[in-house]
Amino acid sequence: MEDGIVLTMRGICKSFPGVKALDNVDFTLRKGEIHALMGENGAGKSTLIKVLTGVYPKDAGEIHVEGVQEAISIRSPQEAQNYGISTVYQEISLCPNLTVAENMFIGRTSGKTVNWKAMEKRAEELLDSLGIPARPKQQLSDCSLAVQQMVAIARAVDTECKVLILDEPTSSLDDKEVAMLFRLMRDLKARGVGIVFVTHFLEQVYEVSDRITVLRNGELVGEYEVEKLPQVELVASMIGRELESLSVIKKETATAERKEVLYEAKNLSSTESRPFDFYIGKGEVNGFTGLLGSGRSESVRAIFGADTVTGGEVMMEGKKIRVSKPLDAMKNGIGYLPEDRKRDGIIADLSVRDNIILALQVLRGMGHPISRAKAEAFADEYIKALEIKTASTDTPVGSLSGGNQQKVILARWLLTHPKYLILDEPTRGIDVGTKTEIQRLVLKLAEEGMSVTFISSEIEEMLRTCSRLIVMRDRNIVGELTGDELTQSHVMHTIAGGGGENE
Ligand code: ADP
Ligand code: MG
Repeated sequence: MEDGIVLTMRGICKSFPGVKALDNVDFTLRKGEIHALMGENGAGKSTLIKVLTGVYPKDAGEIHVEGVQEAISIRSPQEAQNYGISTVYQEISLCPNLTVAENMFIGRTSGKTVNWKAMEKRAEELLDSLGIPARPKQQLSDCSLAVQQMVAIARAVDTECKVLILDEPTSSLDDKEVAMLFRLMRDLKARGVGIVFVTHFLEQVYEVSDRITVLRNGELVGEYEVEKLPQVELVASMIGRELESLSVIKKETATAERKEVLYEAKNLSSTESRPFDFYIGKGEVNGFTGLLGSGRSESVRAIFGADTVTGGEVMMEGKKIRVSKPLDAMKNGIGYLPEDRKRDGIIADLSVRDNIILALQVLRGMGHPISRAKAEAFADEYIKALEIKTASTDTPVGSLSGGNQQKVILARWLLTHPKYLILDEPTRGIDVGTKTEIQRLVLKLAEEGMSVTFISSEIEEMLRTCSRLIVMRDRNIVGELTGDELTQSHVMHTIAGGGGENE
């Protein structure tokens, strides 16, 4: 292995049933560097780390570590540790009811009589030298989450640690705690530890990392020196471009004159989303865009009351309304097609007909069942209108293709005649033809006066359908684009923020 390199992974492949999570991925870590591993949710970051730490066996590929001649095989986290590879996971796996010192040494004292005095002394030294604000005898649960995490890191680096892996360590830390963690990371780096840093916070990557490896859909996109990769290019490489030959839909409402407001939220917040302001005009199609994990789904879930709403004021057609659960939203004319149709949307065993009438039935109340004849008529109507390909209204929805399932959920909401329809990733994982149909349908509904909020990971699709884009980064709204600004480049620059000057 080259000098100064502590770890190489080459040609790593890993499949799960139905998913190629890693497809021929390379990764190299230098001694004393902080190396960010980036990619949208589902890109394969955690899988790569789990292969490296022996949690999952790899299907193919080679792993080399410094100081070992042959390729190594890592069959368990313990073996990884023996090679000097340690991980601190998102969910801290320490024992809250033990002391800080006990947590640092537990499981590592086997076979020897425990010398508590010596252990506490060693813990004290380590905590001091790493600048971690905790005392050895303190109960771990009395420490802040950030400090607990730092204790986990101290534990990891006290063994012969060459490679330290931090998988989204900052996701629940505040700014001060992040600064503290970064200080610790830089300190370890100076001692020669190679750090793999997984995060989805762009700003943090630029603050602390030396190099970046980007994954997308299980494939390696590239490896870059941080200073040579402007933030906007990082975003572009994470998102990639879908080169689909979709017929271009002519957009009627290219210029967004502000329409009469239908729905407006001020300071709306939920347990999952930070306070935000938002409105949509009558007959407007707008959308939330941003990287996966930027908070776009959480925003619309707050609007629909799908997560617990914690504050804010909401108006519908100028009147104050209260939406604290989905039924409130539905009663006020809001429909919502969730991101994960398998989990939140479709009921696979139920017939197409029963799936279609579901929302209307809920809205009417279970005490007022929709008659079989009515249900049949509704189902027929929408199967025709949306060209749903099904053998009959009786067919279990689970046997339909993904695109047709999605149309069934769309039909479910259209049947309630909402004034405002929220579509979260309505076209993900469905065939290109159906995608285009759904986009056309959205534009047609808007023409007829319905307001639609659309979310898609494909920026091009958003640009084709939306007349206003609300851009999110790290759980905040960071921009709003209309008119001439509705270009791929504007969107990516806004998502990337800062750091774009050196392009
Ligand atoms: P990331 O950490 O970048 O968000 P992951 O490595 O967790 O991505 O996931 C990559 C892909 O592998 C995703 O499609 C995910 O659904 C799939 N995947 C991950 N772990 C498993 C598992 N244990 N079983 C099945 N599929 C998995
Ligand atoms: Mg992950």
